[in-house]
Amino acid sequence: MKGFIRQWNEFELKDIESGMIVVGELSSECYNCHEVGIDKKARACPKCKTFFKYMGFRRKLQIPFLKKIKEEHPSLILIDFDDFKKALGQREARKLLDI
Ligand SMILES: [Zn+2]
Repeated sequence: MKGFIRQWNEFELKDIESGMIVVGELSSECYNCHEVGIDKKARACPKCKTFFKYMGFRRKLQIPFLKKIKEEHPSLILIDFDDFKKALGQREARKLLDI
């Protein structure tokens, strides 16, 4: 039997910023152009045409939902949105310190 286990990976933040759909409680958002109300099953943004390579979550995840997403879009990289925000925060802090 398969189970969902989160793992740690290094990603290029710019790559995520320009290719992520963020799934929220009520609607989904394109992180690239911030268009909202996108179908969470969309493969690309209807407005800016960005292809979604990543999916982040602003809501609590349910395993049946994850399973469905993985079945429908096996290539989609599912990321923890809080992790992403933390990494962005670190990048901003570095910029300020100029390291
Ligand atoms: Zn967009």
